[in-house]
Amino acid sequence: MRDVFSIVFIFLAVLLAICGIIALRSNKSIGKSVANLSFATFLPVIGNLILLVSESETLSIIGCYTYFVGMTLMALTLINFSFTYCDIDWKYHWVQRIIYAALAIDVIQFAFNPIFGQAFSVEPITVENAIYYRLVPYIGQIYHRMAVYTALFISLAIFFVKSIRVPRIYAEKYYVIFLTMLLAGAWQTYAISSRSPINHSMIGLSVFVFLLFYFSIIYRSFQLLDRMLANIAANMSESLFFFDMNDRCIWANSYGMKFLQLSPKRMDLAPLMLANLFDDFLDPEPEWKSKQVLGTGIDAKYYSLEKRILKDLKGNQVGSFFSVKDITKDELHHLQEIYNATHDKLTGLFTKETLFKKIRDLVDERKNTQYWIAYFDIKDFKIVNDIFGNAMGDSVLRNVAQWLRENSTKEWVYGRLGGDDFGICFPAGDANLKQLERKFSRHVISNGSIEHRILMHMGIYKITERDIDIAIMFDRAQLALTSIKNEYNKHIAFYDDDMRDQVLWDQMISAQLEKALEEKQLQPYLQPIVDNNGIIIGAEALIRWDHPREGFLQPDTFIPTFEKNGMIADIDKYVWRAACEILSTWTGEKSHMFISINISPKDFLFMDVFAEICSLIEEFKVDPSRLRIEITETSMMTDIESRMSILNKFRESGFIVEMDDFGSGYSSLNQLKDMPLDVLKIDMKFLSSSKNSRKAEIILRNVLKLSGDLGLSSLTEGVETEAQYNMLNKMGCNLFQGYYFAKPMTVGEFEKVCDTKVA
Ligand code: C2E
Ligand code: CA
Ligand code: CA
Repeated sequence: MRDVFSIVFIFLAVLLAICGIIALRSNKSIGKSVANLSFATFLPVIGNLILLVSESETLSIIGCYTYFVGMTLMALTLINFSFTYCDIDWKYHWVQRIIYAALAIDVIQFAFNPIFGQAFSVEPITVENAIYYRLVPYIGQIYHRMAVYTALFISLAIFFVKSIRVPRIYAEKYYVIFLTMLLAGAWQTYAISSRSPINHSMIGLSVFVFLLFYFSIIYRSFQLLDRMLANIAANMSESLFFFDMNDRCIWANSYGMKFLQLSPKRMDLAPLMLANLFDDFLDPEPEWKSKQVLGTGIDAKYYSLEKRILKDLKGNQVGSFFSVKDITKDELHHLQEIYNATHDKLTGLFTKETLFKKIRDLVDERKNTQYWIAYFDIKDFKIVNDIFGNAMGDSVLRNVAQWLRENSTKEWVYGRLGGDDFGICFPAGDANLKQLERKFSRHVISNGSIEHRILMHMGIYKITERDIDIAIMFDRAQLALTSIKNEYNKHIAFYDDDMRDQVLWDQMISAQLEKALEEKQLQPYLQPIVDNNGIIIGAEALIRWDHPREGFLQPDTFIPTFEKNGMIADIDKYVWRAACEILSTWTGEKSHMFISINISPKDFLFMDVFAEICSLIEEFKVDPSRLRIEITETSMMTDIESRMSILNKFRESGFIVEMDDFGSGYSSLNQLKDMPLDVLKIDMKFLSSSKNSRKAEIILRNVLKLSGDLGLSSLTEGVETEAQYNMLNKMGCNLFQGYYFAKPMTVGEFEKVCDTKVA
């Protein structure tokens, strides 16, 4: 018997130690309390083991002390455990103080036992021919029991109160422990009263501690969880359906019942009804998620569907559940957000980014379709805004958007690029350009009372390189568009690579101009002007650019660029200064010669032309009659009054003013008679381009006559042959300029020519 129980006790001790270690390592907050309890219980088991195996009185007494001190510690840790488990703050609690005091007294009175013998003694008894030592309790031992029992009762009370106070679904957590404790207490009481030398209570106590360990560290209150989950499922705002292994519906929450209008008796209809509503329901995959729309238009309802399998603890499938959630509100919100992000607020068309993306997809997808990119804008849209106000401007833009919707086919993708710019991508040939062109010039908008005709211009890039950025395609289309800005009856232009090259060229030379002027890469050339005796009386200053990389550049390769961006003003100022400088150095015969300088229409926008030229005249002390001012008809097309007054000021100050390229622009003979001019400069080129030389001659004769009638001198430029010279001379032309006499030449060459002629 001794051997059997020894083994049992050793086993219990080892088990307690293991429980203690596991509890200590557990990450649960109760872990430490359970570990303390397990380690404390280890002592009485060991104490009992010693008592059981000892055949000497001293060893038995040591066993008894171990047992008692162990029990005292166990009582302490039990109370600690109860407070922690039930979430009561145990520190400084009055119960804590009483228990500490009672247990301290217990330990002290055991300490006095060897002297007073008031707690216990041991006596040998013989059982089955073996000597055992049995405990003989005295008053101190009774106190010890009372103290331990008090701890037990307090713990029981704590658990009891807790289990009836907490909501029912949580009660299990507490009454499981309460019942375990009650049983352990009963067993303990029975075991103590049996007075057997083998303390069976140890087995009960150890089992009690294992159970506490199990319930606090290992066991998850499944019933609690189940009930919580069931509650959640029943009240969830989505429809839930549970199916058994045979796909029979075994449960649906109230939303689910309402959703299918099911009665509890007709649950078996659920799968059929769900399959009717949702195509995905019959998806054979065990688990899936999807979205589905029911209904259309404003009645559309969006659902998120989910099917999951249900498993038991071992991981075996026991059924499945299906959930249906109405996500209409979220979905509509989401769709609205997507719409807002991809559509222009004002016109409802695609935004630039979206348009680019759509076009990219289209072009990539339909590799065999040839597409065109169109960029169009409203001519002088700013005027619409300025004159009619922004509201009208907005209405025009909406109108254009509507017009686009009505005139496009399904194959078109279009959107607003920003401002008054719109973009379209359409299959080549899909648009009737002639018709478009007509529409572009005839589009009339109205806000009810005011009608306004708007012109639209369109640049088209035929997509030849499909891989370039859509933004670049639109850049090209826009480039084509800018090429028609000032042509009144042209509304559509196509991109070609020359346009791109021109832009690159423009950018390059514009960036280089400042430095080129500083380095004097640009120089005025002089082309002689002769009188009717063929004698040089002056020259026209014409700019040349000796470019370090591009070579010798004629003005038509760079002047138009600088005319466009206004940088011509820098060149002209430079040429005017050079002309004055040259004039100031001329002496002798040359001191009577003049130089004609060109004034670009753009110059008037960037400076006070009159003041600028006067200051140069003063600086170089040049007689103003030696600096002739060449102005073109285009200069007189805008701001006529002020331009006239400038010309007047020039004349009043003694300058000679010439009308350059007469006949090439939008000349108005009527206007000519009021213009403050001295010389009419007629270009032979315009006449020689006419096939009918007879007609050209008549025009020339009449222009020269007109010039005489108006009291103006005449100068014909572009004279290339002797015949021309003779003819013009006969017609009464005063001055001549042309290759027949000399081409434009460097200042040095010009001076040499003059000097040799004189010599
Ligand atoms: P433009 O003012 O009408 O200058 C006359 C142009 O006719 C010059 O061309 C000259 O070389 C050319 N020319 C002269 N005689 C003949 C001829 O017998 N036959 C032919 N076919 N052409 C002849 P260029 O120098 O190439 O200048 C072209 C245009 O560039 C000028 O036309 C002028 O509008 C502009 N330009 C030149 N230099 C300047 C300048 O310094 N400032 C401004 N604003 N424009 C300039
Ligand atoms: Ca000229
Ligand atoms: Ca000219």
